[in-house]
Amino acid sequence: MPRPDLIERLAAQTAERAQAQLLRRLRTITQTDGAFIESDGRRLLSFCSNDYLGLAQHPGPVAALKQAADASGVGSGSAHLICGHRREHAALEETLAEWTGRERALLFSTGYMANLGVVQALLERGELCVQDKLNHACLLDGAQLAGAALKRYPHADVEAASRQLQGQTEGCALLATDGVFSMDGDIAPLRELASLCASEGATLMVDDAHGLGVLGDDGAGSITEARLSERDVPVLMATLGKALGCSGAFVAGSAALIDGLIQFARTYIYTTAMPPALAAATHCAVNLARQESWRREKLQHLIQRFRRGASELGLPLMPSRTAIQPLLIGDSQRALEASRALEAKGLLVVAIRPPTVPQGQARLRITLSAAHEDAHVDQLLQALQSLRLAHAPV
Ligand code: PMP
Repeated sequence: MPRPDLIERLAAQTAERAQAQLLRRLRTITQTDGAFIESDGRRLLSFCSNDYLGLAQHPGPVAALKQAADASGVGSGSAHLICGHRREHAALEETLAEWTGRERALLFSTGYMANLGVVQALLERGELCVQDKLNHACLLDGAQLAGAALKRYPHADVEAASRQLQGQTEGCALLATDGVFSMDGDIAPLRELASLCASEGATLMVDDAHGLGVLGDDGAGSITEARLSERDVPVLMATLGKALGCSGAFVAGSAALIDGLIQFARTYIYTTAMPPALAAATHCAVNLARQESWRREKLQHLIQRFRRGASELGLPLMPSRTAIQPLLIGDSQRALEASRALEAKGLLVVAIRPPTVPQGQARLRITLSAAHEDAHVDQLLQALQSLRLAHAPV
């Protein structure tokens, strides 16, 4: 029997996905301008970006990036541990640690790599890794990379998590959860999870990709908002490509955690450090996110406005008070048609379908930003009203 050709098999899998109308489409954006983007020659009002504070095009980080690139070039030249760790990285790490109330912070090139690296460094083969079913894919992948015994509890079900921890009381255990769930927008029951971990001797890790910058009085995220400290949540991971409008990620915690990650996190060790100019731009974005609390207030105002309007229209809102405001449609084809109809009206709202979300839970993932205005939210509500989603079978 000849071996099957791998690329032919991949092509067949892609064709199958197309057949099921689940093909993911790549779109090239030719221009961005505040809440608007241009694609295929059309200007669209976007409700897709994770630029929650409207910092991605702010002149401050843009100038900081240019200035640092003029001074030190584009690439870092190597991994952090070789000769890629520049003063821009060190300064940003210091500020991130201080902002999140932790001893130290460590930069990673992406959030995906941070989660892979942390879980792999912390857990040994066969050790228990308990995770919320709706955690981001990279947290789940981290457990696979570590060869951990992965147990996934039903979304936000602390009792189920407790049973999973009690089912394997020998050895180390990590409980990892998103702070804000990326496709639902709700916030994890952090206080309950923290007390569960304390009583079971498990280590709690929170991925606050969608909470940092948005939640907490000073934008320090979901952990601060829940009045928890480093003692309750020893491992904090957050990304820099969302509310901060830049790119990359960091892990924050004790000196022991960070020193250990520098030694053992493979996705930290074996990869090129982020461009130092990007670290400088991010530093400027962090300062803006902390100082300009009006961005958080404006975002909250827009969230309230959207939820009030959507509720009056009977739209299938989900229980979220964050910038992620999905409308649950159910059927993939209906979600896709709704997204296309919105695009025809000049609005960009993506349909999220399985396997990114569970079967039968396709949705429109609407994200709001401080770059939006009241009139933009009203335009979205008007367009949604005309789609007659109110009685969508879920
Ligand atoms: N965690 C969560 C919860 C996310 O939503 C994302 C990105 N969508 C990541 C991690 C990965 O971050 P990055 O895009 O920086 O790789």
